[in-house]
Amino acid sequence: MRLLVTGGAGFIGSHYVRSALTGAHGASGVGSLVVLDKLTYAGNLANLDPVAADPRLEVVEGDITDVATVDALVAHADVVVHFAAESHVDRSITGAAGFVHTNVVGTQTLLDAALRHGVDKFVHVSTDEVYGSIESGSWSEDHALEPNSPYSASKASSDLLARAYHRTHGVPTVVTRCSNNYGPHQFPEKVLPLFITSLMRGGTVPLYGDGLNVRDWLHVDDHCRGIQLVLDGGRPGEVYNIGGGTELTNRELTERVLDAFGVGWERVRQVEDRKGHDRRYSVDISKIRAELGYEPRVGFEEGLASTIAWYRENEQWWQPLLKHLTVVR
Ligand code: NAD
Repeated sequence: MRLLVTGGAGFIGSHYVRSALTGAHGASGVGSLVVLDKLTYAGNLANLDPVAADPRLEVVEGDITDVATVDALVAHADVVVHFAAESHVDRSITGAAGFVHTNVVGTQTLLDAALRHGVDKFVHVSTDEVYGSIESGSWSEDHALEPNSPYSASKASSDLLARAYHRTHGVPTVVTRCSNNYGPHQFPEKVLPLFITSLMRGGTVPLYGDGLNVRDWLHVDDHCRGIQLVLDGGRPGEVYNIGGGTELTNRELTERVLDAFGVGWERVRQVEDRKGHDRRYSVDISKIRAELGYEPRVGFEEGLASTIAWYRENEQWWQPLLKHLTVVR
């Protein structure tokens, strides 16, 4: 099988690429794997170091909105796994244009190429944030899309394009919507690596508002296993939620990280709440569980400990990235 992986130098995409090439999730026969990545501030070739010598891997630095580049690569792909996106909500609040361009126009550019060349499967990696915010219960895949941030609105738009290309043209698209990921190689502007690296440097961590926003934390390895299941067995035109991690308020998450560092609440500073901050996300994963046998495997305690250990051991990876933390929290 010839894979094209967009955004394969980012946090989740690179985990997927490493897993696919090592067969960690039982990926069926990868003949070749091309990564298309613009290498924005969030893209990092070092994330692919462990598999850099694999002769099946080729990395192309390029933009998913560039029609010629995309066309040439999709022409030689059997399947597309589409991760590339502008992904940080705070950045979308201060400037939405890049989010719409990459996430919406980029996805449409890929879908057009998939239509021209007739791929076997197009997995569009999306987020639970497209559903909006839910006080209680969980969203199933047929819940209305009610995104509240420019980021989630751009992702919802791209989900709808994936749906439309299936309905209109028969492109075999499958959409995944996953909860909050954590794990190694996550860019240090995201909450968990931000907290970990701040505490490692002796600093304080910023807690938004009352800290009672709830997120479902899923280890990136569980997300990538879910994506592989969807690539191998997901039905074209369908949406699959991926989650089933650990639901925590931001205060509880903060408490866990403080405990791991043996420090107290004096290391926390309360900051003004994020504009439009969603209160709670929660996906119902019964569909992927029943159809594809998905189950998360990494417990939060174990996953958090190994993630903190990774950041402790890989300071040379994250130190140079701190200069990109332009969004002050
Ligand atoms: P990330 O920001 O770490 O990585 C994004 C990657 O896309 C980077 O390598 C970047 O260089 C690349 N990229 C950005 N714009 C590009 C463009 N125009 N052309 C080509 N490449 C481009 O993001 P992530 O956290 O790894 O998220 C990956 C995907 O998973 C995104 O689509 C995101 O919406 C989705 N997702 C993320 C989470 C999460 O918790 N992080 C949860 C659910 C879904």
